[in-house]
Amino acid sequence: MSNLLELRNVTKVYSRGVINANATIALQDISLTLKEDEPTIMTVAGESGSGKTTLAMLLLGFITPTTGEILYRGKNITTLRGKDKLAYRREVQAVFQDPFAVFNPFYTVDHLLTVPIKQFKLARTKAEARKKMEEALTAVGLRPEDVLGRFPHQLSGGQRQRINVARALLLKPRLLIADEPVSMVDASLRANILETLRNLQRDHGVSIIYITHDLTTAYHIAKSIIVLYRGGVMEAGDVDTVIKEPQHPYTKLLVDSIPWPDLNRRWGEQQIKVREGGGRSHGCPFMSRCPAAMEICKTQPPLYELNSHHTASCYLYSQQPEVVRERLSAFLPS
Ligand code: SF4
Repeated sequence: MSNLLELRNVTKVYSRGVINANATIALQDISLTLKEDEPTIMTVAGESGSGKTTLAMLLLGFITPTTGEILYRGKNITTLRGKDKLAYRREVQAVFQDPFAVFNPFYTVDHLLTVPIKQFKLARTKAEARKKMEEALTAVGLRPEDVLGRFPHQLSGGQRQRINVARALLLKPRLLIADEPVSMVDASLRANILETLRNLQRDHGVSIIYITHDLTTAYHIAKSIIVLYRGGVMEAGDVDTVIKEPQHPYTKLLVDSIPWPDLNRRWGEQQIKVREGGGRSHGCPFMSRCPAAMEICKTQPPLYELNSHHTASCYLYSQQPEVVRERLSAFLPS
């Protein structure tokens, strides 16, 4: 089975100025695979500064890896040309957090949807273009007659975000990068948009990388999860296991910092006492905040296999078998 997307030891370092003294590792040694024939929803979770937005920018080709490579259908995305590049730009789409950002207040929804149709020559006639718009809007649960011809201010935040999803869907994407797509939408509409994304995966064969700081929504939408902290993978696996039974001290902190009305958990029940201090050491990125830190944590922990669908990068599990980082995807069910 061929790969739709493959990240091979991708690292991104930002450095200020010519002198490299202020280099920041935004993402460190990430290897990941999405199968062509197994559309899935994978969450990448973490706080701000965890590297998740850098990952989105890398996947969309907005920035390039410092080391490592990203392959789309077996080809390095930084060297794509001609037809391959066009196919990548059409098949890898994004939905961002701000549903207002892509709307020019002076254009109607029709205009927003017509642009990609023209850009990628998706229709030969106006009637065909209209049919495609209507199909895409219907697929995301909107009634075309409710939104076509309208201006952005006449629509709700939830409608705008679903129009963004419809816009992506028009291009028949194979991969959707959804970067905090519901964080600026009313809580009452979140479930609706998450359901829309799930339908894309189930009914249209679109794989989705769902990027979020919000484990509640991750739990409801994704099959697998990768928890990032300061650019490194802390824990990964089946979403149900990682969120209900987190093993890494950082994931425990994240899970414990939110209320779980439907998981029989009391907020703050297992509160982690966070150490003062900051700054990334050369060892475990979480060391300065970890209540369980040990001398050995001054060296970077490998990933350890907790079970066949759960892995964590923490010396607390050093009695478990080590996992080479290239095998991370083996722990992510699709
Ligand atoms: Fe804490 Fe050490 Fe585990 Fe890092 S490796 S999370 S510092 S116990």
